[in-house]
Amino acid sequence: MALTKSDIELFDKAKAVIKRNFDDKMWNHTIGAAVRCKNGKVYLGVNCDGVHGSCAEYIAIGAAITAGEREFDSIVAVYGKGTDCQIAPPCGNCRQMLLEYAPDIRVIVTEEKSIGIKELLPYPYL
Ligand SMILES: [Zn+2]
Repeated sequence: MALTKSDIELFDKAKAVIKRNFDDKMWNHTIGAAVRCKNGKVYLGVNCDGVHGSCAEYIAIGAAITAGEREFDSIVAVYGKGTDCQIAPPCGNCRQMLLEYAPDIRVIVTEEKSIGIKELLPYPYL
């Protein structure tokens, strides 16, 4: 599916959150994510690297769930800072998590396209 105006806004929010937090000294925060809920609210996250680190998608979904959200519309993650941000499709672990928490979510995978999580992970672990 081609990106909508709200998808591009979500992409801009993910870029802004990693631009504010990009860590080019310890490299602990290099990816930002933004998830839009079905009610239109947006929650943000950045990855937290470490022995048991977490991807930005987990942090964003966790922030949304902490706020009481349970229904998700779209998510995007970006790598980089400033104007160098590029979309980072979710890792395998995040694909499984998204399928479990948000089986109808659309994932923005390029600057032109989003696809459903079931299409992104056609043979999930169950
Ligand atoms: Zn991940």
